[in-house]
Amino acid sequence: MISSHGCGMVIALFPRLASIPALLLCALLGLVAPRPVVALGLLRDADIEHGLAELSFPILRAAGLSSRQVEVLVVDDPTFNAFVLDHRTVFVHAGLILKVDRAPMLQAVIAHELGHITNGHLARRMANMQNARSAAGLGALLALAAAATGNAKGAVGLAVGTQSAAIRSFLAHTRAEEAAADQAAEAYLSYAGVDPQGLVDLHRQFAGQEFLSAANQDPYMQSHPLTRDRLRAAEDFVAAQTQSFAPNPTQDYWFARLRGKLSAFTRAPNWTLLRAKDETYDDIRLMREAVAYHRLNQLPRAIAAIDAAIALRPEDGYYYDLKGQFLMETRNWQAAVTAYEKASDLAPSEPLILAGLGRAQRAAGQRAAGLASLEAARARDFRDARVMHDLALAYAEDGQPGMAALLTSERYALAGKPEDALIHARRAVMQLPRGSPPWQRAQDVLTTSEKLQKRK
Ligand SMILES: [Zn+2]
Repeated sequence: MISSHGCGMVIALFPRLASIPALLLCALLGLVAPRPVVALGLLRDADIEHGLAELSFPILRAAGLSSRQVEVLVVDDPTFNAFVLDHRTVFVHAGLILKVDRAPMLQAVIAHELGHITNGHLARRMANMQNARSAAGLGALLALAAAATGNAKGAVGLAVGTQSAAIRSFLAHTRAEEAAADQAAEAYLSYAGVDPQGLVDLHRQFAGQEFLSAANQDPYMQSHPLTRDRLRAAEDFVAAQTQSFAPNPTQDYWFARLRGKLSAFTRAPNWTLLRAKDETYDDIRLMREAVAYHRLNQLPRAIAAIDAAIALRPEDGYYYDLKGQFLMETRNWQAAVTAYEKASDLAPSEPLILAGLGRAQRAAGQRAAGLASLEAARARDFRDARVMHDLALAYAEDGQPGMAALLTSERYALAGKPEDALIHARRAVMQLPRGSPPWQRAQDVLTTSEKLQKRK
């Protein structure tokens, strides 16, 4: 399902979705931050993230990385931008995905960001950060990045918004870094068999923006300064290619699908119904129409459309996930459980689908099964604040206040709120069996939150 964490505007566009500050990293252990933070509202959707993984897989491989090491996540922001904060995640704005026309352009963005990672540009940023530590407003974000790069288990979170001037300047790369990341991107793209013309097209989209004032530029232009030299270098690289790059039908499909789903949830439903007719792929057209009907509160039509998409791709768990979302949001709990069960059978390793199943099971009165599904989701993705929230609620309902307090403390810890984390961790430690694994987890939050508070 599509769920939006943060950002009021998109909440308005995504009816009935919970608004929870997104978080970035896993546990609070080892955090050395004076004040914790994170700047992002994330749009979490198993289908879209799967599509991004399909597009990034060959590029990651070319860069000597794997999709287990680096994932691509969508930031809930209508502007054009992409960036990295640590070695594990490439963040791409929803607005960028909607504004590029072809898979190779999006893949060029991802390849370029990976180039920043593999060229060690995050380390340079960390060094700058040490000098800028006293800059008001920046400390928080910097703390996040420090935790992120210093320790894979380091942690954090707090909604700031990627538009603030401090964050923009923090995300900015130097021109030398841009040239290096482009060179890496060219190599990764051509090795992966992806047309490097995508990089040229990406640059051309910004040609001319250099002459605009900062306020009129896309944020991407500020975080990734473009010079005519970069455009020329990319054009030269393309001109020098001896191999030809055939279109990749699988990658083209997933690009159309993730873009189609994102636009169906963000554009007006009537726009979608009008434009979906031109969609190349029948199942994607049906999925887009289904989302539009759902948003127009026309459930029978939404179900008919998604069922027709499923008939074209009967082994596609993500379409069942979407059907489950429709049923869940229209309070058809039992039918939602059935759809999510099928989804998680077909896509068993997707924590977002497991979480959907868990919520549906709880709503349908299958409390123990629901708790187990939510725990399974959390075990696969420690960064989903919404799952932690729902788990705490489930434990509270089931008369396990110690576990509820533990999950709440961990959620606050991840959100970068040590004061709140401390209150709930103390409660958890009092209530959980001494020495048990959950008690130990509460102790970890307690110790780290206390450490954090002292630094303030
Ligand atoms: Zn860049």
